[in-house]
Amino acid sequence: MVIFGLIFSAILASANNYFNEYLMDAVKGERDYCRLVVAPDKTEACLKKIDDFVSSVNSCDTSSTRYEEAKISDAQQQKEFLSQVEEVAVPARVKTMFRMLTENTLDLDWKLTAYNSEEFAAQSSIGGHIIISSKLLNSFTLGEVTAVLAHEMGHSVKRHSQQHGCLALAWTLKDQPLNLAFKTFSLMQGIESSAYPVGQAALALSHKAELEADAYAITLLNKSGINPMLMSKALEKLASPEGLVHSHPELKTRILKARDLGLKIQDTGFRYVNF
Ligand SMILES: [Zn+2]
Repeated sequence: MVIFGLIFSAILASANNYFNEYLMDAVKGERDYCRLVVAPDKTEACLKKIDDFVSSVNSCDTSSTRYEEAKISDAQQQKEFLSQVEEVAVPARVKTMFRMLTENTLDLDWKLTAYNSEEFAAQSSIGGHIIISSKLLNSFTLGEVTAVLAHEMGHSVKRHSQQHGCLALAWTLKDQPLNLAFKTFSLMQGIESSAYPVGQAALALSHKAELEADAYAITLLNKSGINPMLMSKALEKLASPEGLVHSHPELKTRILKARDLGLKIQDTGFRYVNF
């Protein structure tokens, strides 16, 4: 699940770089251990174990098993979340806009639920269930709400929670039996093993996911005949004094990018639904 408007620290490098660097460092340490520390007759088995692990991490993003796992995990989290809040009716006009969007994207199990809250919040599952707060529904214009829905749908379509799960899988390298050896080796090299930047990778991945979902939303809005500039408008609303995250650099970057992309994609000859 990804919460709309979550704030992340400014990490400019792409998540993939962080992810790969982290993984490659860890794997190198493990391989060195196999070659240098374990008994010679066990070296091959040791190396194979690491290779198997690396290939399972590398195929994680595209694995259909992982996709099903992420779906179940997201659905469970949402069920738990909804059991703790008061559900409210989704206004008919919001339902109509949501339907317009779903007709122009992948055929997921799309569903929209609203709940009572004093916070600006929306979240989505990889299966296509979007949950939105009453505060957001009541404070944003219909167009801005539509942009937020499109953004959340972007998280679902792009399978962002599966990607986060894959990062967690990579992190399990630290819990592999070989990890003790890895730690020893790291210490020998003067590296603090806890310094591996998995936390940074997660932050970078989150930031990348937000930008990707914004870009997806802009394209989807445009495709649905809805003004694509509404994405940057929604982000600006979030950044306004009444929003919670004003002046945050990550949000500023998102607004600028959303504005640029919206202007680029905007088809001036097209009659957009305007609101
Ligand atoms: Zn988001």
